[in-house]
Amino acid sequence: MKIRGTYLIFSLLLSLDCHAADICGKKAQGEIMQGHAPGYREVIFKNKTHKISPDGRFIIAFERDNAGREPLTLVDKDGKKITYKFKVDKTQWDIQNLKGVQPRKVTPSPEDNAAIEKERKLIRTALAEDKADLFWQKGFIRPVDGRISGNFGGQRIMNGKKMNPHAGMDIAAPEGTPIKAAADGIITLTAPELFYSGNVVVIDHGYGLQTIYAHLSRIDVKKGDKVKQGDIIGKVGRTGRVTGPHLHWGASLRGTKFNPQSLLNMPKTDNFCFNL
Ligand SMILES: [Zn+2]
Repeated sequence: MKIRGTYLIFSLLLSLDCHAADICGKKAQGEIMQGHAPGYREVIFKNKTHKISPDGRFIIAFERDNAGREPLTLVDKDGKKITYKFKVDKTQWDIQNLKGVQPRKVTPSPEDNAAIEKERKLIRTALAEDKADLFWQKGFIRPVDGRISGNFGGQRIMNGKKMNPHAGMDIAAPEGTPIKAAADGIITLTAPELFYSGNVVVIDHGYGLQTIYAHLSRIDVKKGDKVKQGDIIGKVGRTGRVTGPHLHWGASLRGTKFNPQSLLNMPKTDNFCFNL
């Protein structure tokens, strides 16, 4: 899944002729990148202000439909700013044609809308967490082994109807397969029987980075629990909007959904890094 060639062609417009920072990862729609800017306090990207750790680490993410050149501003301890612009590469999204989805989950009844609104609010609130923990620095593992049955970002067609793009990665696995925490973190949401997500868990990895686990058959953690990478948080199931048992694995940075696959490339191993 690595496209090395494209890493080599990047168009970075330097606004100053000095290297305040370096940044690693795939500079493309739906990806997350890790940066290092010692001496800086925060980074402003897409109108969101992200913390920079005491040792100079930060993360930014590109949404699925991120387009054009994006300014990235570093702010130092005295409030002095440096702004760079860089081009975000386009990602090719697939089309996911799903048949046999429960009709009610494709065209909800007016009575279902209250449940849908409640679900959106619960998840939005969990994804708004922005703790000062650095759990993401140690890297991530895949929560479940198995075939990827749905890529992040795919244009979904359910029972012939065009739906929103897929907000995570689906991993097919038998019902009851244990699900591991992808990294250390704190459980910020456990919710039963949501309309779309079914039984769902959200783990906060600090600095606004969360991972989401949906459609579980059972949940084995509770809100506030601290988990270590590899701890079992629940079991694969088929709750919510599904056509078969699988784990929907999602990732979000300050509410920007991105491809959880890109977490597996963090930190720098095998990634392309360049100077700002
Ligand atoms: Zn999914």
